[in-house]
Amino acid sequence: MALDPVRDARGAPRYRCICDDCGREDTVAARHGRDGSDGHGQAVSKIQRLGWSYIGKRLRCGTCEAKRKVEKMAAKTEQKTPAETAPREPTRVQKREIMEILSEVYDHDRQCYCGGETDDTVAKVLNVMPGWVAGIRDEFFGPGGSNDDMAALGDEIRKFMQDTQARLTAAKLEVESLEAVISRVSSMSKTLDQIKDAVGPRNLVRVK
Ligand SMILES: [Zn+2]
Repeated sequence: MALDPVRDARGAPRYRCICDDCGREDTVAARHGRDGSDGHGQAVSKIQRLGWSYIGKRLRCGTCEAKRKVEKMAAKTEQKTPAETAPREPTRVQKREIMEILSEVYDHDRQCYCGGETDDTVAKVLNVMPGWVAGIRDEFFGPGGSNDDMAALGDEIRKFMQDTQARLTAAKLEVESLEAVISRVSSMSKTLDQIKDAVGPRNLVRVK
């Protein structure tokens, strides 16, 4: 840390602050103690007010402090997505962990995941790549898909059956009502024939 007691042209006590990262200088007014170190605390708080930072005995100007923060955040973000920086192959331990968790959440008999588990949920728990889980699951357990998926498919099939049944009923009713219409028309047609026979063409002419 470079924080040196100095005096300005008129002899007033000041501290010269030098950025440990880039060497930029600034001075702040702060009294000097007899041993020349008393004013440190005051100088630090004054330079901090100017945007500098003093962390771990390292003095940084505003620019370097901003840069440090950005870099720190970038590093944190990288940590949050280990999948991207992780090696492309799981380690033995990871493989074993994947096997263990799969044996708990995979339904051997029904050949699907229990509940809402998926490759992704398993990967998230172990903080590994979903592709690794899928590979081991395919090789040692069975196909993906979960009970929830099956349940959703079951619901879909049930709904389709209900809809089809409803349409069939509607169609039957339609047929019945058409049959009723046909029988009414055919009986009307018979009645018409009877009327024609009763009146006869000659009688019709005579009415004219
Ligand atoms: Zn700097």
